[in-house]
Amino acid sequence: MSRFLGATGARLPRWLLPENWPLINNQPQLATLHFNASGLQFEPTNASQPAGYLALHGALVLPAFVEPHAHLDKTFTIERSPAQQPGLLAAIAAMHQDRVHWNAEDLQQRATQALHWAAEAGVGLLRTHIDWFSVDAPLAWQVMGDLHHPLCSIERVALAPLPFFTDASDAQHIAAQVATSGPGALLGGFIHSSNWDAQAFQHLLDAAERWQLDVDLHIDEELNPQAQGLRWLAHYLQQHPFSGQITCSHSCALSQQDDAAQILAVLAQHKVRLIALPLTNLLLQDAVPGRTPRQRGLTLVKEAQALGIPLLLGADNVQDAFCPFGSYDPLDTLFSGLLSLQLGAAFDEASALICQRHALQGNDLVIFPDADVASWPLRQRQRYRLKNGVRYGETTNGA
Ligand SMILES: [Zn+2]
Repeated sequence: MSRFLGATGARLPRWLLPENWPLINNQPQLATLHFNASGLQFEPTNASQPAGYLALHGALVLPAFVEPHAHLDKTFTIERSPAQQPGLLAAIAAMHQDRVHWNAEDLQQRATQALHWAAEAGVGLLRTHIDWFSVDAPLAWQVMGDLHHPLCSIERVALAPLPFFTDASDAQHIAAQVATSGPGALLGGFIHSSNWDAQAFQHLLDAAERWQLDVDLHIDEELNPQAQGLRWLAHYLQQHPFSGQITCSHSCALSQQDDAAQILAVLAQHKVRLIALPLTNLLLQDAVPGRTPRQRGLTLVKEAQALGIPLLLGADNVQDAFCPFGSYDPLDTLFSGLLSLQLGAAFDEASALICQRHALQGNDLVIFPDADVASWPLRQRQRYRLKNGVRYGETTNGA
């Protein structure tokens, strides 16, 4: 296996480059990359071609992708269990019907396929939520914990409906199982107007704090301006310290709330992160049979970014009752966001929303050898991975 020491002629996105990076015809000069043990370093490419360096000739180069929000327990079940009605709650009902099939073999086969697709698309870190159906960890929690891929690590989030935290000792029991099940495990919850309970939410956060867990919540995935999840969380954080990292997925209701700016300001102050899910939110929000949707169902991405809130785009459900489509390719998620959220320049700005910044420390890159900035991510989607100087598979993903 040949190992490159670096690469020349890489077209990096502007968001990754320092402000004083030289421009040629208003385009960033190509970069020479050095794969050092301490992480990736880069400088403008000059005429020389150092020995042992890969010549990229202007190929587009990004840090390995992140899939910050998936559901590997539900994926690839659409054919046997489609939803009977549009919308989120009907999809949840279909999922409960399907789970009689979720034995270890079924879960492992479907999740492995998903992981393979994601890694092939350039994903280096995938966070999957896993539904809990009682206060004891489901079989899928262990099955997903045993999955491995050489190019893609996995994080698991325990997705328990808020009523499971009504009893404080149940909340501690859930958190204890998550905390003792190995690294990369987080506490989550489904928090919605249909199950709202402030006391249960407090138990969830207390349990996370006690067990030193980070939190990733399905919160306010609805367009009801009365949704209380984020509003309550902002108020709570003003009164109570929380030492872990809080991530809020969905948060669609913010787009309907008059006090959204105040809520976001508190979340920014407490370093809460947001994940927007353009594919499923477009599909599941404002979904009424026989009626064209009027609303986009997305959270306040631009307002959050203006406040410095870290934000990523995720795929959410792939080929299940929640979303019959999907590919585990972050380029598809990004393209959906480019239109629905009007994100601006695809490669030079918006690509930051699907990249894993930490990948630079691991010299972990995705290379698009034949792509150009203006066409990306729609044409020439062929890519390969270059990790620590080793090249892994050229795929024709999506091309
Ligand atoms: Zn989700």
